[in-house]
Amino acid sequence: MNLTAEMARKWLILFNKKIQEKQDYLSNLDTPIGYGDHGHNMARGMTAVVAALNDNQTLQEVFKATAMALISKVGGVSGPLYGTAFMEMAKTAATSDQLSDLLSAGLAGIIKRGGAQVGDKTMVDVWTPIVTEIQKGSLTKIEIEEFVMATADLLAKKGRASYVGERSIGQIDPGCQSSGFLFESLLEVIG
Ligand code: ADP
Ligand code: MG
Repeated sequence: MNLTAEMARKWLILFNKKIQEKQDYLSNLDTPIGYGDHGHNMARGMTAVVAALNDNQTLQEVFKATAMALISKVGGVSGPLYGTAFMEMAKTAATSDQLSDLLSAGLAGIIKRGGAQVGDKTMVDVWTPIVTEIQKGSLTKIEIEEFVMATADLLAKKGRASYVGERSIGQIDPGCQSSGFLFESLLEVIG
């Protein structure tokens, strides 16, 4: 499936809406295992993203503007990580508009930047199975929720959550939950 600039803009506007609605929930998820700031970090970043979008941008420009806004406005480690994902998607958009190519590049950027592996309880644990489902063309909302919920069972090995050790078990990872909202928004655009 291909992604147009217009679809990407709709995707980001829907994602912003969810982030604004759920910012307290996301920050609450981050309280026992982080600084309790993930929702507010993302809300600030996504406000800047939406302000940076306009109808004349190409797909590449949409992703680049998104990356720049997230990198400069999100106060936590999730800013450079999401920012890198969108920057890699912008680079890929020069040669492909296929959703699976774009998202694979985004995931590779997160892994390269953050050094996390599957099972470390980071957003990589949601992005990885979702990219696989997108490649198969079979992503569903229920699957997204399952991938997010499954992160509760994991012991955090990266980021601030790794400092609380065993106490990270039983808690949904906030970056996985925001990534879940990102892909739910995408699903609403691609149908
Ligand atoms: P901070 O931890 O700096 O307060 P946020 O609260 O905004 O940043 O984001 C925390 C989220 O970032 C985590 O829930 C996790 O999903 C993600 N994260 C942390 N470290 C990494 C990493 N090395 N690779 C991928 N994702 C990470
Ligand atoms: Mg935090």
